[in-house]
Amino acid sequence: MEKLKKDEVWYCVPCGYTTKEEQPPMTCPICYASSDQFVIKHQDEITGY
Ligand SMILES: [Zn+2]
Repeated sequence: MEKLKKDEVWYCVPCGYTTKEEQPPMTCPICYASSDQFVIKHQDEITGY
């Protein structure tokens, strides 16, 4: 599993939820997508973050 660098977040592709935990959640608390739906994004890439 990849780890976040500074200023990166886990981003849920289906719903846009983000978290700065070291690893993505097992399931998204918003849309219940599994952790493999999470990708790493730099927080500057996320509109309105
Ligand atoms: Zn989600």
